[in-house]
Amino acid sequence: MEKEKTELLGLSLEEMEDFVVQNGQPKYRARQIFKWIYNKETASFYAMTDLPKEVRSEFDKIAEISIPRVLKQRVSKDGTRKFSMELEDKKKIETVVIPHSPDKNSKYTLCISTQVGCPIGCAFCATGQSGFQRNLEFYEIVGQVLGSKKELQKRLKSDDESLISNIVYMGMGEPLLNFSETLKSIKIINDSKGINIGQRHITISTSGEVKGINRLAETGLQITLAISLHAANNQLRDKLIPINRKYPLKVLMKAVEDYINKTNRRVTFEYIMLDKVNISEQDARNLIKLIKPLMANINLIPYNKVTGLDFSKPAPEKVMQFYNCLLQGGLNVTLREEKGADIEAACGQLVMKRNSRSQ
Ligand code: SF4
Repeated sequence: MEKEKTELLGLSLEEMEDFVVQNGQPKYRARQIFKWIYNKETASFYAMTDLPKEVRSEFDKIAEISIPRVLKQRVSKDGTRKFSMELEDKKKIETVVIPHSPDKNSKYTLCISTQVGCPIGCAFCATGQSGFQRNLEFYEIVGQVLGSKKELQKRLKSDDESLISNIVYMGMGEPLLNFSETLKSIKIINDSKGINIGQRHITISTSGEVKGINRLAETGLQITLAISLHAANNQLRDKLIPINRKYPLKVLMKAVEDYINKTNRRVTFEYIMLDKVNISEQDARNLIKLIKPLMANINLIPYNKVTGLDFSKPAPEKVMQFYNCLLQGGLNVTLREEKGADIEAACGQLVMKRNSRSQ
C-alpha cells in the first residue's frame, strides 16, 4: 500500500535510527520512539513526552504508527477473546488471544492473521470460504500484536509487559504465501528491543506451501513449523485443502523432512477431526505411516462447527478412539483443548464478517 507518511511500525532499531538522522535528529531519538511504540503501544507522537515539542509535531507531519483499531471484541466463557480490527483501508481482520490457564495471572497466546481472507479455500474453514482480498503489510501483522496487547492490558487492568508470551501465525490467511512480510514481522516480534518474544515461542502454520517451507528452512530461524495436514491420503486432501493438488503429500513430506534436517527442529502436524470424513481406522493407519518416520508431534483438533458448512464434530468416544489408535501406533499425539468455540474464535472459524466478498 502506498503511504504519504513514513510508517514507523515494524522498523528495526537501525532503520529507525536512519529515519531520525535523515530528519535532523540525534540517533538516540530512535531508541526513545522505540520504547514508546513497543513498551507502551503508543501510536501518537504527541504522547511521547520525552521528545521536544517541535520534534513531536514535525514527526507527526511526516510519519505515522499504524496500530490497528480494535472495533469490537467477544469474550468466551474460557477467557479467550476475539478482536475484530480495522485496517487503514477499512478492511477487517480478526485476532484471537487465548489464556494458558484460568489463573488471573495467566499468560496468553496470540493468534494473528497474515492476509485479509485466504486464497487456499480449505473446505472446512470459514476464512477460506469467504475469499481472498489482499496480503497484509508487515506493520499490519506487527500492529495486531501491539493492538491486542494494549486492549488486553486495558481489559484486564494489567501492566504485565509480557502478557502475550506466544505468537501463532494461525489466523486468517496462509502466512507462507505472504512470505517476506511474515518474515519481516517475525524479526521485530522477536527483537529484544522490540516486542521481545523468543523464536521458540513463535509458530508458523502452513497448509502445505512447499516453496515457502523450503525458503523458511534457509532462514535459520528457530521458530516452530506446524503443518495443517487434515488428511493422510491425496484423494481426501485434494478435496479438503486444494493446495494439495499443487503439492501432493509426497512432495510436502519431502519438504518437511528437508526442513527438519536443516533446522533440527521438531515439526508439529495439525489434524482437524471431521466426523465421518477423516477419522477411520484406515485414516489412523495412513497417518502413522506418514508421520512416524519424522518423529513429529501431531495435534488433534475436534472440528468447530462453521455455519453453512457441511462438516460436523465427532462424538467424544470417536475422538478418543482415533487418539488411542495414533498413540498405540507410536505417535507423539496431543488432543488440543478447544478454546473460544462459543465465540467463533476457534480453529477455522475466523471470518471477515462485514467485508467478505460474499456479503
Ligand atoms: S484453514 Fe488456513 S489455509 Fe485453509 S482456508 Fe482457512 S485460513 Fe486459509
